Amino acid sequence: MFYLLNYFIQMKILLNNNDLNEALYNVSDLGFVPTMGSLHQGHVSLIKKSLKRCNKTIVSIFVNPTQFNKKNDYINYPRNNRRDLSILKRLKVNFVYLPKKNDVYFFKRKSLIKLPKKDRILCAKFRKGHFEGVIDVMDRLTKIIKPKKIFMGEKDFQQLYLVKEFIQKRYNTKIISCKTIRDTNKLAFSSRNKLLDKIELIKAGKISKEMILLKNKFVKSKNIKKLIFEKKKDLINSFDIKLDYLELRNILNLKSSNKIKDSKLFIAYSINKVRLIDNF
Ligand code: AMP
Repeated sequence: MFYLLNYFIQMKILLNNNDLNEALYNVSDLGFVPTMGSLHQGHVSLIKKSLKRCNKTIVSIFVNPTQFNKKNDYINYPRNNRRDLSILKRLKVNFVYLPKKNDVYFFKRKSLIKLPKKDRILCAKFRKGHFEGVIDVMDRLTKIIKPKKIFMGEKDFQQLYLVKEFIQKRYNTKIISCKTIRDTNKLAFSSRNKLLDKIELIKAGKISKEMILLKNKFVKSKNIKKLIFEKKKDLINSFDIKLDYLELRNILNLKSSNKIKDSKLFIAYSINKVRLIDNF
């Protein structure tokens, strides 16, 4: 009987805030997975965690224009709603929120979001205004959806760190961090991988493996700084990439680090204008 009932429970597609308010009326213990679509196994792992830990799960698909610092990057961002919806249906997600820009940006902020100086590092330094856009949209989505938990990936560690700091201070909502899911060649799943050709994907996989080897070398090294300095040169020469940063930082405060304990190696680079980020 339960299985029969489950079969008939339809995933609700919410196209605007009226749909959303109507559907979420009376829903408690709601898990929320914000995405920009073009779903992959990384997203699926977040969704499965939410389905397991919460009574109901809502996934949003919204390519947020305000977090793109380059217009072309926004225009070229991969989109595939039809495929995404069929994945979400198969996973038995309860609600999918597909807002238009006005559904999210219908109210004006009282105060502008500004990152403190200590946080203007890594991607905040290389993508001016990016995290201000991310925090703004996450603040708005949290206000609109009122979830109990939000599931976010460690793949975007700085985003997770900043959103957690902002949201948990202001809402009764918990941010749940989820492990990075990788392909067999160690490349982290990312919607942007769809913009790479076969050779570029192989290259990106090799760079991931280089990062894992480098991190292993840190264990016995007395001079981590030098190892990083040399690997930077090596990556640029061997892979023909534009390297934004390769840095070891403490995971608790994102301060620069020169010891392996509580630290992660952060990398951002572009292959043929496609910008990839990861951490190890
Ligand atoms: P995006 O659609 O790229 O905005 O990502 C939506 C969420 O999925 C974010 O919380 C990401 O950190 C997370 N995510 C993206 N890629 C991965 C991955 N390979 N493994 C785990 N989580 C991921």
